[in-house]
Amino acid sequence: MAQSQRISQQPSQLVDSYGRVHRDLRISVTDRCNFRCSYCMPPEGLPWLPREEVLTFEEIVRVARLLIDRFGISSIRLTGGEPTVRAHLPALVGQLASLGVELALTTNGATLRLLADDLAKAGLNRINISLDTLDPERFRNLTHRDSLPQVLDGIDAACQAGLHPVKINTVVMRGANDDEILDFAEFGRSRGVEVRFIEFMPLDAESNWEDQSVVGVDEIVSRIGSVYPLEPLAQGSEPASRYRYLDGQGHVGVIASVTRSFCHLCDRVRLTADGQFRNCLFATSELDLRALLRGGASDDEIAAAMAGSVAEKWAGHQIGQVAFIRPRRSMSQIGG
Ligand code: SAM
Ligand code: SF4
Repeated sequence: MAQSQRISQQPSQLVDSYGRVHRDLRISVTDRCNFRCSYCMPPEGLPWLPREEVLTFEEIVRVARLLIDRFGISSIRLTGGEPTVRAHLPALVGQLASLGVELALTTNGATLRLLADDLAKAGLNRINISLDTLDPERFRNLTHRDSLPQVLDGIDAACQAGLHPVKINTVVMRGANDDEILDFAEFGRSRGVEVRFIEFMPLDAESNWEDQSVVGVDEIVSRIGSVYPLEPLAQGSEPASRYRYLDGQGHVGVIASVTRSFCHLCDRVRLTADGQFRNCLFATSELDLRALLRGGASDDEIAAAMAGSVAEKWAGHQIGQVAFIRPRRSMSQIGG
């Protein structure tokens, strides 16, 4: 990270040795899932965590509260695995919303018709719904589930429940669904939802990722822009490179983790379902917060441990370089 200078740590912020201040927390509430997306999980699933290893709501809220009160974390996203398979999710949303942060959820959308109202009433603000194809048969092949109608209905349910903005996450894989880039752009434009294309990352449980399967941001933007002209927007700390349709029909984004890494802007820390604190999605080591939480550690001790972990954060993930090491756990086990 040549462009950033190392600075010394400040006590009231979660700041690393490159000066990146951390304000965003991703919490995985479960490693389990009701889908089997090919770029994430094998068809037979993964060995699930024993229930006693998964953090309770009380433990999750304690960590969140500490990060908010001590370090000014201002936004939280719940994820998984599939977060909606965790029982009583709206109750957790309610507890976290009462801490006064911006609260978001990433979900596969399959059960949103049942849950969207309760989540919105509990205080959820924003939602990202993952959808990688608009073709029912391809959906079956990609997810090993026959749930496209439910997901489409879930998107409507989220909009009707007043969650805003509703965004669509679309992982693009060469030869699998890249022929649908324009269809998704049109889907977003017609429904008034922002589509976020995601470059395929080497975090699939089956290790099928290879350079050639990645469709990069430049290609995605040029394919859309040749039909619907686009103008780039300035990138803040958010991971997406965002573009505005010049005809005023909304925005589209690309999370270009592979070809246009945004590590130098990263403001994110993560808590896995089993209570491991991670300073990077691609980190190869974790801080065992569950052991501290269950071992009687004080708030000061837990806060100091998290600050120490962030202080050690590396400059970036180095995907595509010889030095890149895949994390031991895959996407659904970390929390995407
Ligand atoms: N189950 C929820 C879902 O699918 O939205 C939340 C968890 S999922 C791991 C979070 C996001 O990570 C989803 O948008 C999913 O498409 C994305 N994802 C999973 N594996 C990925 C991979 N190997 N590369 C890029 N994105 C991936
Ligand atoms: Fe489940 Fe989300 Fe992974 Fe798909 S991407 S298998 S929905 S955790």
